[in-house]
Amino acid sequence: RRIAEADSVAVIGLGRFGTSLARELMAAGTEVLGIDRDEDLVQALNGELTQVVRADATKEEVLRQLAVDEFDRVVIAIGHDVTASILAASLLIQLQVPVIWAKAVDDQHGRILEQLGVHHVIYPEKDMGRRVAHLVRGAAMDYLEIAQGYSLAKITTPLLVVDVPLGESTIRRKYGVTVSAFKHADEPWTNADNETVLRAGDEILIVGPSARVEAFAQLR
Ligand code: ADP
Repeated sequence: RRIAEADSVAVIGLGRFGTSLARELMAAGTEVLGIDRDEDLVQALNGELTQVVRADATKEEVLRQLAVDEFDRVVIAIGHDVTASILAASLLIQLQVPVIWAKAVDDQHGRILEQLGVHHVIYPEKDMGRRVAHLVRGAAMDYLEIAQGYSLAKITTPLLVVDVPLGESTIRRKYGVTVSAFKHADEPWTNADNETVLRAGDEILIVGPSARVEAFAQLR
């Protein structure tokens, strides 16, 4: 009954975030062991994940029984019960799980997880709030800060860059962004190159420093 194979992930906490994560991993072909202490959640996901178990992840013997220490990657998706999240993190580090991801509800929680040695601390609500701010402003259809101060956005092509091959345009020099992909109406997304000629109404993906991406997205 152990599924700790190479491409498998244990997800601890099957709330909204953990469930969504576990489903996406399954859809991508990854085996998933889901763990939650809530019987209803476990029942609801039964059959959808490779294995779902009702258990308390703050107990070392429980984690050992479930062979969580044999997984290469474990995600702690417990948010609101900060104590449980920290206890689980501490145990997984003690068990020497090679890669641990954990969700933090705020900066203080995240700092503690980092101090414990959790390898990847994520802030889904904070990050989503920042991302949605860009969408609400209306400039971009999608927006992602890839790294500190560096972003990717999906926007409608500003008219001042249409009808000229990208290689001859001044977008990079003048606006500091790179057009990495484009979509003509009713055609699939395609990587952009020097010969690409954008048309009015095209959607494009641009990358660059966040401030430059912001400014370019405001152009019409
Ligand atoms: P979300 O906002 O994604 O719904 P929550 O923090 O509300 O996240 O949910 C986290 C989940 O983690 C809950 O379903 C809860 O039952 C589960 N959980 C909390 N503590 C433990 C624990 N010690 N062991 C296993 N699961 C836990």
